[in-house]
Amino acid sequence: MLTKIILEEQIQKAKKYIEKGDKFVVVTHVTPDGDAIGSSLGLYHFLNEFSKEQVNVVVPNDFPSFYKWMPGAKDIVIHAKYPDFAEQLIREADVIFCLDFNEPKRIERLAPAVVASDARKVMIDHHLNPADFCRVVMSYPQISSTSELVFRFICRMGLFDLINRSAAECIYTGMMTDTGAFTYNSNHPEIYTIISELLRKGIDKDAIYRKVNQVYSESRLRLMGYVLYEKMRIYPEQHTALITLSQEELDRFQYVTGDTEGFVNLPLSIDGIVFSVFIREDKDYVKVSLRSVGDFPCNEFASRYFNGGGHKNASGGEFYGSLTDSIANFEKGLNEFNPNNVEELNKHA
Ligand code: 5GP
Ligand code: MN
Repeated sequence: MLTKIILEEQIQKAKKYIEKGDKFVVVTHVTPDGDAIGSSLGLYHFLNEFSKEQVNVVVPNDFPSFYKWMPGAKDIVIHAKYPDFAEQLIREADVIFCLDFNEPKRIERLAPAVVASDARKVMIDHHLNPADFCRVVMSYPQISSTSELVFRFICRMGLFDLINRSAAECIYTGMMTDTGAFTYNSNHPEIYTIISELLRKGIDKDAIYRKVNQVYSESRLRLMGYVLYEKMRIYPEQHTALITLSQEELDRFQYVTGDTEGFVNLPLSIDGIVFSVFIREDKDYVKVSLRSVGDFPCNEFASRYFNGGGHKNASGGEFYGSLTDSIANFEKGLNEFNPNNVEELNKHA
């Protein structure tokens, strides 16, 4: 038996929207990760099982190929490829589920259409500080993945039987990827109760792990080697590591979306390193990923210096300017706000 985390009133309201609606859209954040795709497709399969025929998952841009095996992934509408169709779906929707993000900014070019839509909007998410743009806001930052929340939501509606194997595979994938395959944010015993229910639905968790983590190209492994040998900078006094990659370097290693996934975590295996930042030059901006272990709030760093946010131990942001300037900005930030003086700064915040 699972603890009742989601408020009953939220469950009942959202259930009513599902019962009454015909056209459903599920949207998730830009550069979707495993939890974004997993939670969205999990809900998609559930709605299909509920005999809803007009259900579409809409994402702002493409997602890594190692999530494309997920059942339903091929039907996802990518706004960057089909903007008119994606916006039409959003305009005509009765209900829009906003999964794994807390503010319109996180869906970038999809934001105006979603905000303007008359649809009933339901947020299911686990990021702090949800913005006020949905009628029902299921925001539970203490839960490690949105996929887990989707499972809890369906069960609490009394519709566990409508979770089919496809939904179970997608939900499991999201739970797995947002916890680093159950190596962080994963001490809550109920996570394993849920996994055991998903196994009973017929998922092969070992196969899912392989499909997500062991399907990379040779060039990605060589890029990883290059990054570790030549591009990792350690700031021993601040217990911090920095990795940067320019567009030229990415081209040299035939970079495709997803190839640098997980690089930011690598330096955290060094004894004493508690804060790791990965800065990558993208087409129109510089993308920043931040990770920490323990108390250092990297979301605070992301928000102060990189216009971003996220979770205490995993966050992201962006920088509009050159790669060199973004590194200078990082170093300025590190002088002011680092794992050595976090307590002091928080006192004056
Ligand atoms: P990643 O480094 O994998 O792109 O992002 C890690 C986490 O940081 C995501 O799950 C998300 O919560 C958050 N995040 C990433 N980029 C941004 C951003 O630009 N703004 C905000 N607010 N959060 C972000
Ligand atoms: Mn998530």
